Amino acid sequence: MFCTEILNKIAKNSTIKKDEPMSQHTTFRIGGPADIFIEASDTEELINIIRYLQKEKWKYFVMGNGSNLLVDDRGYRGVIVSTKGNDNVHIYKDGNKNFINAGAGILLSKLASITAQNGFAGFEFAGGIPGTLGGAVAMNAGAYGGEIKDVIEQARVITINGDIITLKKDELEMSYRSSIIQKQHMVVLDALFAFGSGDKEQIISQMNEFNKQRRNKQPLEYGSAGSTFKRPKGYFAGKLIQDSGLKGYRCGDIMVSEKHSGFVVNVGNGTFEQAMNVIDHVRNEVMKNFGVNLELEVKILSD
Ligand SMILES: Cc1cc2nc3c(=O)[nH]c(=O)nc-3n(C[C@H](O)[C@H](O)[C@H](O)COP(=O)(O)OP(=O)(O)OC[C@H]3O[C@@H](n4cnc5c(N)ncnc54)[C@H](O)[C@@H]3O)c2cc1C
Repeated sequence: MFCTEILNKIAKNSTIKKDEPMSQHTTFRIGGPADIFIEASDTEELINIIRYLQKEKWKYFVMGNGSNLLVDDRGYRGVIVSTKGNDNVHIYKDGNKNFINAGAGILLSKLASITAQNGFAGFEFAGGIPGTLGGAVAMNAGAYGGEIKDVIEQARVITINGDIITLKKDELEMSYRSSIIQKQHMVVLDALFAFGSGDKEQIISQMNEFNKQRRNKQPLEYGSAGSTFKRPKGYFAGKLIQDSGLKGYRCGDIMVSEKHSGFVVNVGNGTFEQAMNVIDHVRNEVMKNFGVNLELEVKILSD
């Protein structure tokens, strides 16, 4: 068992909880207790926490808003660190470029609203993605033709050895839902974005339009982790699933959304096991019918 006394000292403004149900911290609303759950209050405490966990060789996992996670009902035997308290924002201009440096825990919706209010163009695509900056950088999140890699300048990260380094855009090795952050288990502390200038009303109107499209197409009324599978080259996962006759396929309270087959949703009190059953069935059927391997976009956290 873990002793949290030292953690309480080095992260005294952070929230530390024992046996915290992860269903309360994931948009899928699934997941058993984490032995320890810490919400870091700011960058300094996030660094202290990560370095301490690394030094003591405690098992840990860093998360943002839990909008791309499926956590096992048995929970997590280790420490889950949420960055959500680390949400400071610094805005400045240099020539005709607009810059925002923000903490890993800021929600993309908040960041998008800040860009809109300041007339900064280029982040319209991200306003409806329900993640944090850190999760979005790790995942190279994207929508409506835009991706984080289009607007990011650099990210400050902590490596698995506890070193703090700054990675420029190219060094982040961002590609479709992938980055060096995931591959090398780095933790994003904060990131710098550059935007052009635009008309505030137009930016807001574009964001509203994208959000309307989301509400029309996505099953936002249910718990989910967004698109369950990555887009296979040359196909759309949702179409392959629908053409396999799996729309509405259900196991307990977990089902393939009737509205968008690319989403596996939790319509009530779905469990991890039910979610895995649906995911495995979908993958098997799509492979059988089309010979396409559906790769998971959702991250599974299970011992
Ligand atoms: C309804 C819905 C719609 C969605 N639409 C989209 C969409 O249009 N486009 C899209 O790309 N995604 C979409 N998603 C998925 C999700 O919102 C994104 O992947 C988002 O970027 C995840 O951010 P998060 O903070 O929630 O990360 P989490 O779910 O908490 O974590 C996801 C991954 O990021 C890692 N991570 C989180 N924070 C950090 C950090 N600070 N440093 C290092 N690694 C970190 C975690 O370890 C994990 O591997 C959607 C999800 C939902 C529920």
